[in-house]
Amino acid sequence: MRLRGGKRRKADDRPEVPAGTPGPAVELRGVRRQYGRGAGTVHALAGIDLALPRATFTAVMGPSGSGKSTFLQCAAGLDRPSAGSVRLGGTEITGMSENELTELRRSRLGFVFQAFNLLPSLTVEQNVLLPLRLAGHRPDRRRAAAVLAQVGLADKARRRPGELSGGQQQRVVTTPDVVFADEPTGALDTGTATEVLGLLRHAVDALGATVVMVTHDPAAAAWADRVLFLADGGFAGSLERGSAERIAARMAALTARTDVMAGVAA
Ligand code: ADP
Ligand code: MG
Repeated sequence: MRLRGGKRRKADDRPEVPAGTPGPAVELRGVRRQYGRGAGTVHALAGIDLALPRATFTAVMGPSGSGKSTFLQCAAGLDRPSAGSVRLGGTEITGMSENELTELRRSRLGFVFQAFNLLPSLTVEQNVLLPLRLAGHRPDRRRAAAVLAQVGLADKARRRPGELSGGQQQRVVTTPDVVFADEPTGALDTGTATEVLGLLRHAVDALGATVVMVTHDPAAAAWADRVLFLADGGFAGSLERGSAERIAARMAALTARTDVMAGVAA
């Protein structure tokens, strides 16, 4: 495990550490996730080991069914691995109760997009719901209303950011820890996709957020520092600072390989 700017600690006396302490933002050890039993068992994740340093932007790519969404859900505490452990900001989440997980998501993972500049074309409520939408969840308007009420902006849900004072805009803004996004640009036009990717990049470079983004788009992945390739529930290599062309070439090779292994090559 990499520790940044801190002393090495033995794993067995590692205390519960809050966000902002040294150590990877996201750490998975031996993570497996299987669906079903017996002959029909699907090994969606077949043993994932990974440590993502803070303030890095990682893209995850792989053929359909390779386990990308399962990986993201397990890493974000939205799904429970069948085996292995997940740490977020140094905190072991594997044994957490539903309530503890919900609180963790709320405080560290939820509403991370509010830390970026608000998107001017969306209402305040839509801005609050954006991170959930980008993480692949159904928008929860009651939750958005509760968040806005907490910061005294309940009556501003339908306004645009431009109609709020600077101070009011700041109140919609919280500090992100980790951003998980599953195909965040999949349904967006090119202009809006570029805007969202620029915000993600800015969150990493200027605000120290850690971004993990699943995408099938090499052009989107090229915004990341590193691309991790998944195949059949396991990691199948990575690419640092790759261009869209190089990323596309690696994806093509990976897809061809998994097709051959599945016996469906043309
Ligand atoms: P990806 O996002 O890369 O397309 P997923 O993580 O969605 O892949 O799925 C990985 C594998 O796990 C696939 O074989 C998929 O069919 C299977 N899978 C995913 N979710 C479930 C589920 N809820 N029940 C059964 N199988 C599932
Ligand atoms: Mg998926």
